[in-house]
Amino acid sequence: MAAIQEYAKIVGTNGDSAHKNKPSKDAGNPTKVFGSNVFNDRTMKERLPKDTYRALRETIESGKPLTLEVANVVANAMKDWAIEKGATHYTHWFQPLTGRTAEKHDSFISPTSDGGVVMEFSGKQLIQGEPDASSFPSGGLRATFEARGYTAWDCTSPAFLKEDGQGNVTLCIPTAFCSYTGEALDKKTPLLRSMEAVSRQAVRVLRALGNTTARRVTATVGPEQEYFLIDKKYYDQRLDLITSGRTLFGAPAPKGQELEDQYFGAIKDRIAAFMRDLDFELWKMGVSAKTKHNEVAPAQFELAPIFSTTNIAADHNQLVMETMQKVALRHDLVCLLYEKPFAGVNGSGKHNNWSLATDDGQNLLEPGKTPHDNEQFLVFLSALIIAVDRHAGKLRAGAANPGNDLRLGANEAPPAIISIFMGEELTDILETLAKGKKASGKGQHYLHIGVDSLPALPKDNTDRNRTSPFAFTGNKFEFRMVPSSASISGANTILNTIVAESLDEIATRLEKAKDVNKEAAAIVREAVNKHGRIIFNGNNYSDEWVKEAKKRGIPNIRSTVDALAEMASHEAVKLFEKYKVLSEKELHSRYDIYLEQYAKHINIEAQAAIQMVKTQYLPSVIRYTGDLAGAIANLKSVSAPVSVQKELLTQISVLLDSAKNKLGDLEEALRKAQAVSDVRAKAVAYRDKVFTAQAALRADIDQLETIVPGSYWPVPTYAEMLFKL
Ligand code: ADP
Ligand code: MG
Repeated sequence: MAAIQEYAKIVGTNGDSAHKNKPSKDAGNPTKVFGSNVFNDRTMKERLPKDTYRALRETIESGKPLTLEVANVVANAMKDWAIEKGATHYTHWFQPLTGRTAEKHDSFISPTSDGGVVMEFSGKQLIQGEPDASSFPSGGLRATFEARGYTAWDCTSPAFLKEDGQGNVTLCIPTAFCSYTGEALDKKTPLLRSMEAVSRQAVRVLRALGNTTARRVTATVGPEQEYFLIDKKYYDQRLDLITSGRTLFGAPAPKGQELEDQYFGAIKDRIAAFMRDLDFELWKMGVSAKTKHNEVAPAQFELAPIFSTTNIAADHNQLVMETMQKVALRHDLVCLLYEKPFAGVNGSGKHNNWSLATDDGQNLLEPGKTPHDNEQFLVFLSALIIAVDRHAGKLRAGAANPGNDLRLGANEAPPAIISIFMGEELTDILETLAKGKKASGKGQHYLHIGVDSLPALPKDNTDRNRTSPFAFTGNKFEFRMVPSSASISGANTILNTIVAESLDEIATRLEKAKDVNKEAAAIVREAVNKHGRIIFNGNNYSDEWVKEAKKRGIPNIRSTVDALAEMASHEAVKLFEKYKVLSEKELHSRYDIYLEQYAKHINIEAQAAIQMVKTQYLPSVIRYTGDLAGAIANLKSVSAPVSVQKELLTQISVLLDSAKNKLGDLEEALRKAQAVSDVRAKAVAYRDKVFTAQAALRADIDQLETIVPGSYWPVPTYAEMLFKL
């Protein structure tokens, strides 16, 4: 029993196996459970006095500061609601630069004079917190002796309750995390700033085009999350998975994904049970889990929510990842979020669906039916073309992490080269407009922009290109490079900011123009003429594209170490400072932190690889060679033929010897990299020396795996992990 409880503590379940997999009676009724653990608009309306509700709404919508008086009333209502639902604690929930979320739980208790306690929660406690979070990476933005970081309530993302499998309920208040001097120490702060920036510039463009009603423009995001599930009993036996999230060794299984029988295949009962519980847990927290299906690789799956504002989408995506991992354990499964857990089959990413929505109800990337929409659409589309072409390197940086280095450019994921897929018809229209000509295509007539009677643009949903890293999919862009394990905040912060810049320039031109329609036409024309090279509708996986992209001058940034540098350049500093998204200090500290994280990550992998080889693979192979030698001696003693055994023994011994040498090389490379002190040089040493030495070692071990009997092999194989589910 004690062991079960211990296990439960680790995995966050109640450890009662009879309880496992038991569907909740409400699980099948989303209307009942959805948002039941969220202090959402409905709950606020119900529980707050009218004027408090109105004041809070105004803060949420326009960013007007909240008075302490209002905060006190909100805090009290929130506390009562949370306590009724079983909460004893609250936490300022924040997103440090680790890419995960952080929480420190405080109970509501406050002592009374007679030795008891009452439950209290003040407006001040709601608005601001001071977690002594000195151990989070800050890149020198604060020294540990003045370690205080502050958390500040982000009331635009609703507070919610987190339940664990043991019945603990905690009130989570989404917060931004910054230093005493106001520098961002987290992922949320710059994201909120970038949303502000893109909103301001988009509204200017709309005004200039004659829209008088929109007051705000929100960047909307729907992140599709890919993941793997494997049986926990296999996971527990693999030090590589436990420590670094991916298999550092493993010969390919006889079968991979070539039969295409997994993608959209029938979902197995065990997985369906997991997915049902996952949906249920997410719905309670207001996460709109919508679509679930089998993905391309064996044991790979996907979950997509309904899109929302970028900051809520980012918060929810964190909850999705966390809940996937928790719920998987309840089913004796482990959820792998790493970008490339298994060599040879597809890795995981996040398709970051992105658009701009106005508060007067328009999707600015919706081609629309009327000429007016059409002009507006083409102007916003131009802003995207300009931004992505100008800042492809920065976007690439937004998708950089060690796992993605194994994925991007492999033959299944978008390459490391950023380009835009527009679809043929839209490309035709853009190219024709760029020539200042009347466009006609597919029996339809397209007149140039600026003329009164523009036709509706075709909404192109059918012509999809799965190989593009940045694809226009009808009424939104899909940024497909985002790493599966990372926060989506970084990528979206960059996307919002670079679009803010091009919208700013466009707005300035339109505001000054005598003839707005003519100017809009000129803007579209110039965008295509100057930046059209970024549009590529062909096969992004092909070698020809790599060559062609080079000719066009589009960057091909293959590694995280190089990609990160794009965000630390002088030009990047100017851009992000101009739109008040990240200061030079913040950018440089992030650069250091991410480089350090990269080095640490490869360091962990190397250490795990060395340990596995020394304590598992080599001893097992040696045992087998010993047994083979014994068999040979025995056979010889009865004068039986031994040529097959001898040949095998030689083959294995050669590989064993080679593996031993490569192990030595890896240890040496690791020692050297560990001794480097400059952050960038260290990351480079890990990439060029340690990572490569480890890959070389893997090759020998994987080859040994194919000839050493399974009964000697110390860890589960790819076939077991990927197909025994
Ligand atoms: P698929 O790309 O697989 O065809 P969908 O087009 O239905 O799937 O949508 C994928 C994701 O894009 C979903 O999360 C969806 O909510 C999101 N999405 C749809 N419209 C928008 C939008 N205007 N802004 C941001 N995300 C959107
Ligand atoms: Mg999609």
